[in-house]
Amino acid sequence: MTRRLGRGKLVIATHNAGKLKEISALLAPCGLECISAGALGLPEPAETGTTFVENALIKARAAAEASQLPALADDSGLSVAALGGRPGVYTADWAERQWFEGPAGRDWYMAMGKVEGLLQGLGPGTDRACWFSCVLAIAWPGGETAVYEGRVDGQFTWPPRGLKGFGYDPVFTADGLSETFGEIDPEEKHRISHRADAFAKLVAAQFGG
Ligand code: IMP
Repeated sequence: MTRRLGRGKLVIATHNAGKLKEISALLAPCGLECISAGALGLPEPAETGTTFVENALIKARAAAEASQLPALADDSGLSVAALGGRPGVYTADWAERQWFEGPAGRDWYMAMGKVEGLLQGLGPGTDRACWFSCVLAIAWPGGETAVYEGRVDGQFTWPPRGLKGFGYDPVFTADGLSETFGEIDPEEKHRISHRADAFAKLVAAQFGG
């Protein structure tokens, strides 16, 4: 039987303010007080896993052990079927760019272009099926864990369209839609996204009847 979160403090194992805000809002109705790993000064562990589940568990376990509180972590990315699931856990890494001058940064257009280049290299008519994954992992001090996986399927779309989202949103058209995640309203994306799917599973399992 899966352990359940009580109504109390939950460490969100992220140093990203945007993610903390989004996750806190999603969990507020559940009576949880979300605190970020960054605010507690917890170190960020290296994401050395080869799957979304491994990386989410690495982050959640590290935060739970260091804070002695239950902790929630997520890992997400885009997988392309014809590329054997790449970039997958390396979705953010494919956007890493070291400029000749100035600090390193993330270039999402370069990353999307890399995927498109690989698909074009496979020839005309290549299957463009792809999916976003989101894994949520909860870890309790003492070692128990629970994992929830969300997914949304779609097509890798070229050229990129829309400025509303982030990351790979402009090249992702969910099955059944004609607009990319970069073009649809955020509310619509949040109804059908991989993150919404994973959170619905977490809330049902942790707070359902
Ligand atoms: P991480 O989960 O913070 O490691 O990030 C994985 C990367 O996947 C992000 O930096 C984004 O580029 C990409 N990604 C994850 N979810 C989405 C999404 O909803 N839209 C667009 N890109 C996403």
